[in-house]
Amino acid sequence: MYKTKDDKKKKKYYILDMFPYPSGAGLHVGHPKGYIATDVFARMKMMQGYNVLHPMGWDAFGLPAENYAIENKVHPRVATEKNIKVFKNQLLKLGFTYDWGREINTTDPGYYKWTQWIFLQMFKKGLAYESNEPVNWCPSCKTVLSNEDLEDGKCERCGSDIERKPMRQWVLKITDYADRMLEDLEKLPDWEESIKEMQRNWIGRKEGIDINYKIEGLKKELTVFTTRPDTNFGATFIVAAPDSDFVNKTIDLFPNKEEAKKYVEAASHKTELERMSEGRQKTGVFTGLYAINNLTDKKMPIYISDFVLASVGTGVVVGVPGHDLRDFEFAQAMDIEIIRVVVGVDGDTSPITKKEQVQEEDGVMINSGLLDGMNIHDATKRIMDYIEEKGWGEKTVNYKLKDWVFSRQRYWGEPIPIIHCEKCGAVAVPEKDLPVKLPEVKNYEPTGTGESPLANIKDWINTKCPKCGGPGKRETNTMPQWAGSSWYWLRYIDPKNDKALVDEKKEKYWSPVDFYVGGAEHATRHLIYARFWHKFLFDIGVVNYPEPFTRLQHVGLILAEDGRKMSKRWNNVINPDDIVEKYGADSMRVYEMFMGPFSQPCAWSTNGLVGARRFLDKTWDYLFADYMGIFIDDNDRNQWISGKREGSTSHEIEVLLNKTIKKVTEDIESFRFNTAVSQLMILRNSFYDIEEQPILTKSHIELISGKCIKKSDFKKFLILLAPFAPHLAEELWHELGNKESVFKEKWPEYDKKLVKDETINLVVQINGKLRDTILVAADISEKEAREEAMKSEKIKKWLEGKEVVKIIFVKGRLINIVVK
Ligand SMILES: [Zn+2]
Ligand SMILES: [Zn+2]
Repeated sequence: MYKTKDDKKKKKYYILDMFPYPSGAGLHVGHPKGYIATDVFARMKMMQGYNVLHPMGWDAFGLPAENYAIENKVHPRVATEKNIKVFKNQLLKLGFTYDWGREINTTDPGYYKWTQWIFLQMFKKGLAYESNEPVNWCPSCKTVLSNEDLEDGKCERCGSDIERKPMRQWVLKITDYADRMLEDLEKLPDWEESIKEMQRNWIGRKEGIDINYKIEGLKKELTVFTTRPDTNFGATFIVAAPDSDFVNKTIDLFPNKEEAKKYVEAASHKTELERMSEGRQKTGVFTGLYAINNLTDKKMPIYISDFVLASVGTGVVVGVPGHDLRDFEFAQAMDIEIIRVVVGVDGDTSPITKKEQVQEEDGVMINSGLLDGMNIHDATKRIMDYIEEKGWGEKTVNYKLKDWVFSRQRYWGEPIPIIHCEKCGAVAVPEKDLPVKLPEVKNYEPTGTGESPLANIKDWINTKCPKCGGPGKRETNTMPQWAGSSWYWLRYIDPKNDKALVDEKKEKYWSPVDFYVGGAEHATRHLIYARFWHKFLFDIGVVNYPEPFTRLQHVGLILAEDGRKMSKRWNNVINPDDIVEKYGADSMRVYEMFMGPFSQPCAWSTNGLVGARRFLDKTWDYLFADYMGIFIDDNDRNQWISGKREGSTSHEIEVLLNKTIKKVTEDIESFRFNTAVSQLMILRNSFYDIEEQPILTKSHIELISGKCIKKSDFKKFLILLAPFAPHLAEELWHELGNKESVFKEKWPEYDKKLVKDETINLVVQINGKLRDTILVAADISEKEAREEAMKSEKIKKWLEGKEVVKIIFVKGRLINIVVK
């Protein structure tokens, strides 16, 4: 039933889950929350007539899988296969609509052939290059990491402090796409604003200017990047980051080089977070050198301090202590001159001596020569032009986003399809030779030398240069764990294609992904890489849309019953298998959708789960106990099923049913599952309830049947319930005598007349001012409205001693009593 065909006559809907890493721990009950949501959504879309693609696969390369394998002394491939089996079994129990015929696995050579192919296209376009820059090295994972793999300056996987060391690396030029990734965020109205904001900050575009300063006594210049050149007349010092290029290359020329080297060494043991933490006492060391301020000819002492980061701009900043709080703190600590160049908010022009006087906001320039009297914005433009005219600097744009360090010195990843030749340099493996298969090794633990374990397999490494036929050596670095997930949504469209990454026509039909659901933690890693690769594939004509995901929704975490994150450490992990075993898959599905607003974190509650189960039990009982099992014998039951003996639906329930159809449809569409389930519960409770009517005499049967609901209406209820509780709904559907699956039914539509509110809050005004609201029938007449308004105690008070001159009545909205 869930096999997806490329039926081009039907409107398509592509809904995608972020595919999991099959870790050794298996899934806990929090993981499937997003999958349940997309499944409910997918089932509704199917019933609404869409051709739905809802696939699943495995992101199985990378450090988590490899570290697990090493810890448990098994080959990563064996461990991964085993883990996938566990994950798949867990998912199968929950009854998802996945088309398993489209299952993908990033470690399958048939899959990573295309990951390698994309890398080669980037290499050919100059977007993949080798570099020897200092990179993040995790001494525990024994590999290089990208900035995106760090959390607060530590290894995101193991929490170790990161070391910076220069190493040969493959790097992807993601910065070439920074502006487009930024601009195109505006074309994604169905992405949550918070995620877009995280991406904007991650890309961190800043317009400013690189200013070159002469260094006294040296032939060298140094370059700083600043976004506030307007304050440059107030610049009194220069600070370089301990790990900046400038310090690395010039340290031996520093008059105070011994002291400087000590400081640099000490700083290398601090994390970025430690260095940036606010309110920390500023430290630094004077290099003994001075730069000359072009504008004022003043000598500015050059310091090294760890509050400046090498990764921002050039890693060197110019200090303007009157107008930057951190510069002020540093100037105070080092006893450096402070000059005011912007008038204070309250007109203050006095020298800046206190922290409170530091003026980072808007204002008018003083003590700034040609800029005096201008506001800071005009001054910024003017001084940038001036500096460029004088040849002292160049306007530039800076990004926080850095090029993507794309190689890892580990075994469990896609081999980088490059052959090194002494004559020809780095040469692409010919496309016909893809995939470059990951060879078997005996020892797959990291070497720690900066070489991957692949470096030990001589007969694999030594090969021929594809260009000149001379001796060549294969690249031994592998790709990072993010590689395989940077394009996987395209492979589901055409998972078995051996000739192309994806067939052009199929891609045209299914792209883009209409809806993508996953963890918010991927806002800046996976989702940045994915957009970058997709844009590249767009540029080389593989895909026909520049953005991969039209709508994006993040999943709120499920916490443990004790309110903490589920973790082995706290011993509070709940396995979905146990829940399915004890309460049933549908109970778990209904509960996870009901437990709270979808995008918010929510603690697991066994009571809540029991409540979901009770709701399903009551639904079951309606058909088997309340309605049939107790009151009606087999003959009557058969008559009821065949529709010969129908209950009738009261007007009240009919209205409620139509309102429920409307609400459930809209709520699923906008991922408000909790209110959708609650509405279904209200509807179910409105049906006749045996517990409230204990008199079970034969003479009541007709009466009770009358309070029930028409079979056709009960069917509608079942259809609405089916996406949430597919097993139960299907079973009851068949009990009602249907031969086809409930999921082949059309999603019900509601009667517009019946969902209109029948009562309204009528606004009562006196002389146009709101004085009361009263609950009345929606179609109340003017005469009735007037009578009701006059009955109100509040209105009576206002009318006391007044004369009513006019009454204005707006049907369905308000009554205005004009008095004198
Ligand atoms: Zn690590
Ligand atoms: Zn060669």
